[in-house]
Amino acid sequence: MKALQYREVGAAPEVVTVPDPEPGPGQVLLKVTAAGVCHSDIAVMSWPAEALPFPLPLTLGHEGAGTVAALGAGVTGLNIGDPVAVYGPWGCGTCAKCAEGKENYCLRAEELSIRPPGLGAPGAIAEYMIVDNPRHLVPLDGLDPVKSVPLTDAGLTPYHAIKRSLPKLVPGSTAVVIGTGGLGHVAIQLLRAMSSARVVALDVSEEKLALARTVGAHETVLSDANAAAKVRELTGGRGAEAVFDFVGAPPTTATGGACVAVEGDVTIVGIGGGTLPVGFGVMPYEVSVTAPYWGSRAELTEVLDLARAGAIDVHVETYSLDEAPLAYERLHAGKINGRAVILP
Ligand code: NAD
Ligand code: ZN
Ligand code: ZN
Repeated sequence: MKALQYREVGAAPEVVTVPDPEPGPGQVLLKVTAAGVCHSDIAVMSWPAEALPFPLPLTLGHEGAGTVAALGAGVTGLNIGDPVAVYGPWGCGTCAKCAEGKENYCLRAEELSIRPPGLGAPGAIAEYMIVDNPRHLVPLDGLDPVKSVPLTDAGLTPYHAIKRSLPKLVPGSTAVVIGTGGLGHVAIQLLRAMSSARVVALDVSEEKLALARTVGAHETVLSDANAAAKVRELTGGRGAEAVFDFVGAPPTTATGGACVAVEGDVTIVGIGGGTLPVGFGVMPYEVSVTAPYWGSRAELTEVLDLARAGAIDVHVETYSLDEAPLAYERLHAGKINGRAVILP
């Protein structure tokens, strides 16, 4: 079968032919119908060899949807042809966090070398993919795989982040979304669906800010050194009760820290190397700063339910498998509006 692989540190990913995978005991083989392209892959492909926590070659793609193509020995409860989405942050399934459905925080994944598809295990940007356990499959139940495959990460990750801050997003509050790309443009819609907060979106590109307005941002602000002052101005000096930073680079974490309100939350989702110190007198009183990773299995079901209710419209650009390297080039260059989705 054809697969998009990251084969050599620092090199661009390429479409190659690899042996057709076969499901082992307990595993499920999916015929991939859609796979999303996440900026985290760009970060992974920029790491030096010594920082890479898994061997190459790696089939990319940690957002996957497909139809069940074959069942490994002992797998029950699924039928060939079932349309499903893949819950990506695989864990051991039995530790205390996994027992809560929070496999994203599995306590034993590292020790057992369990890695998500596309981030260590063979990923979704291929004609077929192996899912290590049927519990990692969520029924699509009528959802379009192309429009909903980004919800497995670009939806789930902001959903988890926003859910934590909901008690603060009361009427009259403000939520700031920094970086209105794949994750950010879904975050705006989630904030509108889940809270009554006023949503202020920040990005460096006018095109991305236009998308932010289309998907429901009340205000848009160019993300520069004056952005925090603009947010303060828009909030009568008070600042934002919650800041969701989908860039996470030094200039944006600084903006987040400078525009958060007393008792506010700054959630750093982007992995751009930015940090934010907290301590007495450094930040407004009682600010919380956190850096979450992905989300739980139950939360993925909730995000898909929200999509079924019509609350989320993911903007997608589609590419064939042969065009997948181009999708990565365009993402790297900041040219994707919404999410790129590969149709193998
Ligand atoms: P993306 O490229 O689709 O979107 C990033 C957006 O940020 C773009 O619109 C870009 O124009 C904008 N941007 C760049 N620099 C900016 C700045 N200084 N100020 C404001 N906006 C700026 O990326 P994505 O796939 O949405 O991923 C976003 C980030 O989240 C990445 O760092 C990715 O690695 C990370 N991520 C983290 C998790 C997690 O679990 N923590 C999960 C998925 C993705
Ligand atoms: Zn991702
Ligand atoms: Zn576990």
